[in-house]
Amino acid sequence: MCTSKATSVSNRKGRKMTTDFHTKDSKETEKKKKMKCCLISYMDLPEYMKDNEYILQYYRAEWPLKEAFLSLFRWHNETLNIWTHLIGFLLFLALTIVNLDGVPRLGDLFSKFTRSFPLTLDANASHISSNFLSRTLQESVKVIDLETTISPGNTSPMAARWPFFVFLGGSMFCLLSSSICHLLGCHSHRLSLFLLRVDYAGIAVMIVASFFPPIYYIFQCEPHWQFIYLALITAMGVFTVFTLLSPPLSSGAFRAFRAMLFSAMGFSGIVPAIHALVLNWSNPQCTITLTYELLMALSYVTGTLFYVSRIPEKWKPGLFDLAGHSHQIFHLFVIGGALAHYAATLIFLEWRDRVGCNTVI
Ligand SMILES: [Zn+2]
Repeated sequence: MCTSKATSVSNRKGRKMTTDFHTKDSKETEKKKKMKCCLISYMDLPEYMKDNEYILQYYRAEWPLKEAFLSLFRWHNETLNIWTHLIGFLLFLALTIVNLDGVPRLGDLFSKFTRSFPLTLDANASHISSNFLSRTLQESVKVIDLETTISPGNTSPMAARWPFFVFLGGSMFCLLSSSICHLLGCHSHRLSLFLLRVDYAGIAVMIVASFFPPIYYIFQCEPHWQFIYLALITAMGVFTVFTLLSPPLSSGAFRAFRAMLFSAMGFSGIVPAIHALVLNWSNPQCTITLTYELLMALSYVTGTLFYVSRIPEKWKPGLFDLAGHSHQIFHLFVIGGALAHYAATLIFLEWRDRVGCNTVI
């Protein structure tokens, strides 16, 4: 249970009345340590932590790193902020592993490959155990598969996998850095500033990374457009990250400015999207991917509106301290948007595997 300032004062008086200073001092230190790990109110927060005046209680402030880390398993007003993005990170990690796991299936091509070149295997079999060789060659096929490979029954090369993994990697970086920022930001002003900047960089990275699969696959047959769009969004991402590295822009006062910067990055996708629609209007898959991408945009915009407006806690300060406040809702919409984009990306990838550049689209 948390102790109050009054208890602390009375303890100080008691300390004067005893001769055993050392024992009292160590007890005092212990108490101070315990008090440090108590949840406090908005009013008692250090100035730099005052971000949302509608969340009144259950704050952690200036906690030692160990306690801050262990607060992952305690209830406070950041618990759900941490867990929503931590679960999102684990979800995208699982999706990455599942998709990497698909590579050995592509590695089954190895059996076809060895059937075509039996002499190569036989020649090596006398020197190296066949199991080892088989494993080694399969590993090499895995690497090749990530770059480019031949689709069974199709003479056109399969689309490169790396833009797909760039998106998954960007999403994981964003979700994990956000989760860590919410978990450890309560330790000190310095660490909080650093983690906030990493968090903002993570959002910019996720936005840029999200552009890679659609632009890469849609404009694969127009490499100059592919390069222009990817270079532009990367430049915007770099500009955003450098702008947000300025400490004053990490403060609560610039919440709307940050939202505007990120939204501008997101909305810059409208130009290549219209271009892509013009190129592929007759393609039946266009409608499906468009639906997913609109869902993603809607999800991000709704989330951003919650983030900026601080609804619902603004309507009933104190009621949503632990659960249901705007930042938690914003996190859920970010994950929803990323999942919708993941679904669209799978369709782009499958389509580009099927329709190579030498085929009429
Ligand atoms: Zn957050």
